[in-house]
Amino acid sequence: MGELQVGEPEWDIVIVGGGPAGLTAGLYAARDAMKTLLVERMVSGGQVATTEWVENYPGFPEGISGIELSQRMEEQAKKFGLQVIQGDVQTLGLSDGRPRTFSVLTSEGAHLARAVILAMGADWNRLGVPGEEEFRGRGVSYCATCDGPFFRDQEVVVVGGGDTAVEEGTYLTKMASRVTLIHRRDRLRASPIVQQRALANPKMQFVWNSVVEAIEGGPKGVERVRIKELPSGHTWEKPCSGVFIFVGMVPNTGFLKGLVEMDQRGYVLTDDEMRTSLPGVFACGDARRKLLRQVVTACGDGATAARAAARYVEELRGTAYD
Ligand code: NAP
Repeated sequence: MGELQVGEPEWDIVIVGGGPAGLTAGLYAARDAMKTLLVERMVSGGQVATTEWVENYPGFPEGISGIELSQRMEEQAKKFGLQVIQGDVQTLGLSDGRPRTFSVLTSEGAHLARAVILAMGADWNRLGVPGEEEFRGRGVSYCATCDGPFFRDQEVVVVGGGDTAVEEGTYLTKMASRVTLIHRRDRLRASPIVQQRALANPKMQFVWNSVVEAIEGGPKGVERVRIKELPSGHTWEKPCSGVFIFVGMVPNTGFLKGLVEMDQRGYVLTDDEMRTSLPGVFACGDARRKLLRQVVTACGDGATAARAAARYVEELRGTAYD
């Protein structure tokens, strides 16, 4: 984090990350007449954009595809004036002047703002076993919606026992001939309704108390996984052409080290109004330490962060109201 000597910033608020938290923050900030820029690394939507079907976001009794939900959120926020650009945020700079100016530095340049909302979300954890990197994109995947169709009528393995693994595994049964879910414990972590559906699915089978020790294959891609049973250590091989890994998430907060307070796992600490330890910087969504990481809670966080950031900017201008 460098110190800046700068003039009046171009933006009231810059939002980092365009998932449901960032897009909702953008909607609320733009409707609050804040000049707001959202910087997104790839396409808007974050993780929800790679989710096949969302059925627990209120207002859609039949469910809605993750891509459509994200596109609608972006369209709605832009309608009220949110500007969205692509960029990979590398660091935050901070002026020593009063009021403070933040600089959101991307590979393409710097964006100056009075306040920053962090909404970078979280990425998939890696399993860290031999073959995972080697066969990534050639059988190893972290996205069932993106890669499931490549495995029509083939055997696939899913690793993990949380909501993501069980939901995405169930989705894969629409294409694959069989889905084998390998979990390190004797029971799933996923919510009861998600579990019941998977356990009753004839195309799903479960391997309990076991871990994937290695992913092996040849020039055409994955051919098998080596499975180790716990606690005996007995190993055996399971032929498959796809391995979908869903073993939790890691927050995209590496560039914030030393800038805002985080917990041991790198989740940003905030108060009820999404304020971080650094005045003028707010955080929302999956990148924040919280109980429940869902689209609906990300949206709620985003709305609160936007209002709190707008009030911070209004206070700087002397136009705040309650
Ligand atoms: P998660 O709940 O953290 O589950 C991760 C799973 O991976 C756990 O079953 C864990 O095993 C297993 N695991 C972790 N490290 C492993 C390793 N090295 N080797 C083997 N297994 C490993 O992650 P998630 O499923 O991605 O969900 C993240 C959050 O999003 C959760 O809060 C979840 O409820 C939410 N979510 C909700 C929905 C929904 O409601 N529709 C959908 C997706 C995600 P243990 O069980 O033994 O720890």
